[in-house]
Amino acid sequence: MVADRTIALDLDSVLADVMQIWLEEYNNRFHTDFKKDDISDWHIYNVLPISKEEISNLFITVWKNRWQDIPPTSNDIAEVTSQLLDLGFRISIITKRERITMPFVSYWLDLYKIPFSDIIFIFDDTSKNHFPFFLLVDDSPINAKEILSPKRIIIFDQPWNRSLTSYVRIDRLSQLINLL
Ligand SMILES: [Mg+2]
Repeated sequence: MVADRTIALDLDSVLADVMQIWLEEYNNRFHTDFKKDDISDWHIYNVLPISKEEISNLFITVWKNRWQDIPPTSNDIAEVTSQLLDLGFRISIITKRERITMPFVSYWLDLYKIPFSDIIFIFDDTSKNHFPFFLLVDDSPINAKEILSPKRIIIFDQPWNRSLTSYVRIDRLSQLINLL
């Protein structure tokens, strides 16, 4: 089965360190100096005085206008995904987002020459648990709880998911290789 050899990777904050640029834009706009470590809650509106809609609009702005500035979470992502493909795994990038940002995600993956088998853009509220993979790497505490056995989830360490203490956690994609 396809799922048995498919590793799913989230995009935002697992491959693309988008919060760096999101916070740059936020700080410019509101004359503040927040750092990624200050974002200790998945729901940004719990730590910053900003609405859900403004949060989403700022993500759209960042992907549309500053996608070339979004750094990868480490500089060896292309090597890691290529190594996983060589080992016989499929790489499925699964990303939940606003449709308008879709082309910029493709440009970003091309810019960093990241090889993968397929990409799934989720525009509605369908859980990632419904898609075919045996292992997901994600930074979202919500996804962590939605992924059900026999599927596995590995948490990509970010300041907003540190309350998840009972999960396997990595802070560089290359650490995944030893966990397979
Ligand atoms: Mg994410």
